[in-house]
Amino acid sequence: MATINRRRFIQMAALGGLTAAVPFSKAWGSQSRGRVVVVGGGTGGATAARYVKAIDPAIDVTIIEMEPKHTTCYMSNWTLAEMRDLDSLTHTFDNTRARGINVIIDKATRIDAEKQTVHTAGGQAIEYDRVIVAPGIDFVWNGLEGYDEAAAEVIPHAWKAGPQTLLLQQQLAAMDDGGVVVITAPPNPFRCPPGPYERAALIAHYLQRHKPKSKVMILDAKDAFSKQGLFTAGWTRHYGDMIEWVGAFDTGGGPERVSVDDRTVHMAFDSVQADVLNVVPPQKAGQIAIDSGLTDASGWCPVDFHTLESTIAKNVHVIGDAIVSSALPKSGYIAASTAKVAAAAVVDLINGREPREGSFFNTCYSLLTPNHSISVSGVYRVAHDDAGAQIVQGVGDSVAVSRAGAEDWEQFREARYAGTWYNNLVAQAFG
Ligand SMILES: Cc1cc2nc3c(=O)[nH]c(=O)nc-3n(C[C@H](O)[C@H](O)[C@H](O)COP(=O)(O)OP(=O)(O)OC[C@H]3O[C@@H](n4cnc5c(N)ncnc54)[C@H](O)[C@@H]3O)c2cc1C
Repeated sequence: MATINRRRFIQMAALGGLTAAVPFSKAWGSQSRGRVVVVGGGTGGATAARYVKAIDPAIDVTIIEMEPKHTTCYMSNWTLAEMRDLDSLTHTFDNTRARGINVIIDKATRIDAEKQTVHTAGGQAIEYDRVIVAPGIDFVWNGLEGYDEAAAEVIPHAWKAGPQTLLLQQQLAAMDDGGVVVITAPPNPFRCPPGPYERAALIAHYLQRHKPKSKVMILDAKDAFSKQGLFTAGWTRHYGDMIEWVGAFDTGGGPERVSVDDRTVHMAFDSVQADVLNVVPPQKAGQIAIDSGLTDASGWCPVDFHTLESTIAKNVHVIGDAIVSSALPKSGYIAASTAKVAAAAVVDLINGREPREGSFFNTCYSLLTPNHSISVSGVYRVAHDDAGAQIVQGVGDSVAVSRAGAEDWEQFREARYAGTWYNNLVAQAFG
C-alpha cells in the first residue's frame, strides 16, 4: 500500500484548501481502521477517495466505478471548437490505485443502508462503515416528450462526455454551411448552469471559421440563465447575430416535444426544425441514488450539509451533482469541494470525532472564444433560515461574476486561468 508522507500531505492540503476543514495534528498519524466505499469515480468520487486516504491512510478505501476511464464533462465544450480533443480530457485510475485506493470497475446496482453493503452488477457485495455516493446525474427520459434513450442515439445530448460528444462533433462537421444548430436548454436544476450557453458560443466559434452562414438557436425552458448579461454581450460582440436565445416566455413555456425523425422541436405556439439538434434533457440524481432510496420527490438527494450525510439513510454521504438543489451549483469544482468536506467528516466520524464545519468553494469558467472567458465564483457556508431549516448561503459578497466590459487582456487572462483551473481540478481527482 502506498503511503503519503507529511510533506506530500501539506502540498495536497495547499492544493485543495483542505486545511480549512481538517486540523492537521488530529488527522495525521491516526491508527484508525475503517472501510469507506465510494460509488462513482468521477470528479467528486475520485477526489473524496483520495482525501479520505490522505487524511487517514489506515482507512481502507474502495471506489466502485463502472467505466475503466473517466472523461470530464468540463472542457468537453472546448472539443466542439477544436480547442482540445477528448483524449486529453480522459483520465485513468492508475494514480488512484498507486495511492493505495482499491478501484473496482463494476456497476453499483444498490446500496443497502441497513446492511451497509454495496451490491454490484458483477455480483459483488462490498461492506462499508461509511459510503460516499457520487454518481453524478441521470436524465429524465421523456421529460421532454419524445426524447428517450433511443432518441439520444441519433440526437445527442452530449451532457455526459465521451461518445455523445463525438456524435455531436460529427454532426456539426457533416452539416452544410447555412444550417441551423438548435440547442434545447433544460429547466433548473441541472448539471453546469452556464454549460448550454458556453456550448452555443463555442459551436458558433467553430461555425464562424468553417460554415459562416450558419446559425445557433437556443430554445430554453427558462426565462433567465447563469451569467446572462455577460453571455449575450459576448455572443453579439464575437458572433454578431449568429446566436439567438429564445426564452420560455416567448415560446409559451419552452420546448414541449421533440420529433426525432425530422429533428423538430415543438413548442406551444411554434416549432423549429434543426439541421443539428442537441437536446440537453431534464435531469435527476444518478440512477443508483434513486434505486437505493436516497432521493426525495425532487429526484435529488437531501443531505445534512455539515457532513454531506444523507438525511434519509445513515452512514451514507452524497456529494457532487446528485445533491438536492441548493445555492451550490452543480459544477465540477463544487463536486470536488463537497468531496473534501465529506472526506473530512467521514474520517472524523470513523475516528469518533465530532466533524468540524466546512465551507464550499466554486469557480467556473465559460469560454466565449478561445481568448475570452467569463467566470463565476463563490464561497458558501451552512446556515439556518428564520424557521431554523438548514440552508447553504454565499459568504458576504464572495459570489461574483467577471466584470462587465472587462478589457481584452482581462478576458484573455481569464481564458488562461481556465486552463490551469482544469489542470488543478483533475490533479486533485486523478493525479
Ligand atoms: C458540457 C459540460 C460542461 C461543463 N463545464 C464545467 C465547467 O466548466 N466547470 C465546472 O466546474 N463544471 C462543469 N461541468 C459540470 C461538471 O462536469 C459536473 O458538475 C461534475 O462532473 C460533477 O461531478 P460528479 O462527481 O458529481 O459526477 P461525475 O463527474 O459525472 O461522476 C460520476 C461518476 O459515477 C459513475 N457512476 C454513475 N453511476 C454509477 C454506478 N451505478 N456504478 C458505478 N459507477 C457509477 C459514472 O461513470 C461517473 O464516472 C460541465 C458539465 C457539462 C455537461
